[in-house]
Amino acid sequence: MDPHVKHYCGIFGIYGTPESATLTTLGLHALQHRGEESCGVATGDGKKIRVHTGMGHVSDVFIDPAILEQMPGHLAIGHNRYSTTGSDNIKNAQPFVAECRDTHLAISHNGNLTNTRELRTSMQASGAIFQTTTDSELILHLIARSSQEEMVDRISDALRQVQGAYSLVLCTEDKLFAARDPYGFRPLCLGQLGDAWVVTSESCALDIIAARYIRDIEPGELVVINANGLRTYMLCESQRHAFCIFEYIYFSRPDSIIFGDNVDKTRRRLGRQLAIEHPTNADIVISVPDSSNTAALGYANEANLKLEIGLIRNHYVGRTFISPRQRDAKVRLKYNPVRGVLKGKRVVVIEDSIVRGTTLRHLVRMIREAGATQIHIRISCPPIVAPCFYGIDFQTENELIANKKTVEKIREHLGVDSLGYLSLEGMLRVAPNAANQYCTACFNKEYPIQIETEVGKLMLEK
Ligand code: SF4
Repeated sequence: MDPHVKHYCGIFGIYGTPESATLTTLGLHALQHRGEESCGVATGDGKKIRVHTGMGHVSDVFIDPAILEQMPGHLAIGHNRYSTTGSDNIKNAQPFVAECRDTHLAISHNGNLTNTRELRTSMQASGAIFQTTTDSELILHLIARSSQEEMVDRISDALRQVQGAYSLVLCTEDKLFAARDPYGFRPLCLGQLGDAWVVTSESCALDIIAARYIRDIEPGELVVINANGLRTYMLCESQRHAFCIFEYIYFSRPDSIIFGDNVDKTRRRLGRQLAIEHPTNADIVISVPDSSNTAALGYANEANLKLEIGLIRNHYVGRTFISPRQRDAKVRLKYNPVRGVLKGKRVVVIEDSIVRGTTLRHLVRMIREAGATQIHIRISCPPIVAPCFYGIDFQTENELIANKKTVEKIREHLGVDSLGYLSLEGMLRVAPNAANQYCTACFNKEYPIQIETEVGKLMLEK
């Protein structure tokens, strides 16, 4: 995946342990791949909410043990952020905390709302002042303005007014809440650690604290956890599901369970299907690490070809500044070819997706320089032709290479011997849920929720 297509957010919540802050930071470590720009934790001890946020990775923001020592509480929520809405400054780091009449409320949000402009305009007209530029703050405003008495009713009230993608964890001083939009765009699951309840974006965050996966939070479900245990409510009847298929292709970790199934198994099936649709006369299969590793395994098994490690990824690059003109250096900083593996070989390179194609073009040059005699690129999803409005930072339509060029032209642009994409039908056939349960809008422009006309048009026309 091109590096300019970033991940979005990871969320975590826990109720019923005095170690809530520490366990939340561990959960956030496991979800680091979902957002690297900022992170934060909010705890509740029955009387007070405390919050700490900062820019950077979890290990940087919580480097001082004194921070967690000053955050007691039997419940906590956490957030890793990549800015899909709002700019990437500290003001937008979550969890956000707001005063809501007699209580405080903290929120962590994954996803993008699609009716923010309309809501924001009408709230500003009636005097609302926004502290941040994020759509997550809108939800807090709606909750604060609800005339309902109970917090659960206020949250339901607010969520019935928003449209789009949201997986949420919220907390007051003494309650934890979790909710997922009726389409279920983003994953959210429930786990247990002894008597404590855990809610998180991906099950890998349960594994890191040795919690047990129980089930997914259902699309349209609102869960409340307090001293009396767990209660569940349905916000509304789900008309159709729209699980983001990109979670299986690229975003989620292969060791996670999302949308009720293993990412690893699904990704292998994508690789197998790719080999069926695009077999190759070649010597070896390599992946663009790490996100394509599992699909490469599936491809190599199905094609009966040897899987080799032909590219080494440097995991310690960090935030080095390299000007856009030095893109080649940026790619070299991150990847290095293994010459002994590639020299004299006909190589199949498995990549999960192509957005602009810039990184892949540089990689192809590196693989060629390392001595590969043929390069065959295989992509484990269909061409990306449209932007995402539900929480993924895809480019505008014009920046997507598959929107401007045919597959043959992309092959020429990359300078490879052949190029094959997985078909939409093939992808949906091997995905675990029924085909009509997924969002596939970035591949076929069939958006499950209409987007605000001006914003949508702007993105599609830019
Ligand atoms: S448009 Fe693409 S990336 Fe966005 S939610 Fe749908 S499938 Fe996922």
